[in-house]
Amino acid sequence: MKLLEEHIRKHGTVLSGNVLKVDTFLNHQIDPALMQAVGNEFADRFKEAGITKIVTIESSGIAPAVFAGLALGVPVVFARKKKSLTLTDNLYTSSVYSFTKQETNDISISKNFLASTDTILLIDDFLANGQAVLGLLEIAEQAGAEVAGIGIVIEKSFQQGRALLEKTGFPIYSLARVASLDNEQIRFVEEEVAR
Ligand code: 5GP
Repeated sequence: MKLLEEHIRKHGTVLSGNVLKVDTFLNHQIDPALMQAVGNEFADRFKEAGITKIVTIESSGIAPAVFAGLALGVPVVFARKKKSLTLTDNLYTSSVYSFTKQETNDISISKNFLASTDTILLIDDFLANGQAVLGLLEIAEQAGAEVAGIGIVIEKSFQQGRALLEKTGFPIYSLARVASLDNEQIRFVEEEVAR
């Protein structure tokens, strides 16, 4: 997605450990117009898939997921990383190791908001080692929901997540694919891959 790549080139900074910082439009401050374009792109790709719900993970997946939900006319549910006072039982849960924070979190979704009758689109901000999406897939399996596909805003194609998720057989649609971050240079995979 050209517009997204332009934003990454213009605003992205490379931190140590192959972390791409995009705080100006995605991970801290949010650019609503860009997020709407991102959401529309996901919606367009999956509009024939019979999606009944978008599933994401807090907090940075929420903005793109909400715009995709708006475009598809379906609700958005986000997995929580911390148990809250109002979310204590009746949960689907799985454990996710965070690449950026280097810690394991239990993520959970209330059983009230995901069911075997749902066909879901999973959305996340970044795909690195694939752990976050695998956690969401585990929750989808617990719910017996059908997974129509996986939408990723920024994929770091040089890490193992892509290969790991391809093994699941679900369609993966990444809007920007970063080939490398070597020497603080952001390089994209030549062709945007839409599957
Ligand atoms: P994974 O589970 O695929 O290893 O990592 C996905 C999660 O880690 C994303 O939800 C995102 O929050 C975070 N993450 C991974 N790599 C990066 C990165 O380069 N930059 C930022 N901002 N977040 C990242």
